[in-house]
Amino acid sequence: MSLAHGRPYLAIPGPSVMPDAVLRAMHRASPNIYEGELVEMVRGLVPDLKYVAQTEGHATIYTTNGHGAWEASLSNVASEGDTVLVAATGRFGHGWADVATGLGLEVQLIDFGRKSPLDPARVEEALTADKAHRIKAVLMSHVDTATSVRNDVAAVRAAIDAAGHPALLMADCIASMGCDRFLMDEWGADVAVTGSQKGLMVPPGMSFVFFNDRAAARRAEMKRVSRYWDWVPRAEPEFFYQYFGGTAPTHHLYGLRASLDMIRAEGMEAIWSRHATLARAIWAAADVWGAEGPLEMNIADPAQRSHAVTALRLGAPYGAQLREWTDKRAGVTLGIGLGMSEPEDPMGTGFFRIGHMGHVNAHMVLGLLGVVEAGLKSLGIPHGRGGVAAAAEVIGAA
Ligand SMILES: *Cc1c(COP(=O)(O)O)cnc(C)c1O
Repeated sequence: MSLAHGRPYLAIPGPSVMPDAVLRAMHRASPNIYEGELVEMVRGLVPDLKYVAQTEGHATIYTTNGHGAWEASLSNVASEGDTVLVAATGRFGHGWADVATGLGLEVQLIDFGRKSPLDPARVEEALTADKAHRIKAVLMSHVDTATSVRNDVAAVRAAIDAAGHPALLMADCIASMGCDRFLMDEWGADVAVTGSQKGLMVPPGMSFVFFNDRAAARRAEMKRVSRYWDWVPRAEPEFFYQYFGGTAPTHHLYGLRASLDMIRAEGMEAIWSRHATLARAIWAAADVWGAEGPLEMNIADPAQRSHAVTALRLGAPYGAQLREWTDKRAGVTLGIGLGMSEPEDPMGTGFFRIGHMGHVNAHMVLGLLGVVEAGLKSLGIPHGRGGVAAAAEVIGAA
């Protein structure tokens, strides 16, 4: 029997659940793009975006997805033949490295595997060895959405400083911004990128690049920057269209206004602690389930786990079976294992991911966990009993 009819729940790590307020804000006739309400509204988005990134620096908007933000950010600080150091902790570090290669940059890659955060000491070592200062930037994921590891941005800043190296620090916060605590200025990130469809709760299609004055100075030294990716006119537009390098993404902007209103009303501290508590509820359930049977969280140390996404290993083909069950039978869509293929499981069917980013609350997470537990039982996958009860304890104590 299917019990899926009702409101579906997309519990993947982006696109995330869209609030009704965001959907309502987008459901309107096309606005005038030359003057009036839309033009006024966009001016107010910039300080609120900077609040989300916790920066006094510059904020720019791009009509693109996260891959576009990767390319936009690099295009402003490095040109063909320059070197970037990429500290990869899963699929997304390799993705940014690939974009860099496409731009003609030399990539020096340190791969920290799929189960660990990056080690700042190895970043420091690589920078110290670069006596000629050929490395223009260090690229890192704050959260890698495939492995669900969270990296320490401030520790990488400290490593760069300890090496006495001028490289910029660039952080991919696409999964984490608006979910995991991130303090751009305090932690010393020179550039941070995010997308609209995760912590910001807006459909995919918009991205944001934040940069400080150090990064702006590097941009000023560039011989040439792609017109479309150039962040200068977007950060300081003379004309409205320059915010977007062309026509404004009108409806996305209305959605973003609604989401930023929600974020302002809740406040960043409260948002970070909501995500932290809901993450702990999920981990409590997974700990109990994993006490018997094959289930385990990909990142063993809770201090290294993201509060926005949790990657779990169930063993092939259980991961795929569970996703199919929760989707078809209960209306909950779980994330696939990404970049987690193994020789004995080339399609990565042994993994699944839970997205818990953005517009999620206690009843959604408890419902989701109840469905996963029902699926484990229905499919005969061995697991410890009482996972949902353990999650309810965490939520009850919060
Ligand atoms: C989602 C994500 C991306 C890619 O974003 P797209 O919008 O799919 O291009 C990059 N990095 C991280 C950490 C992500 O979570």
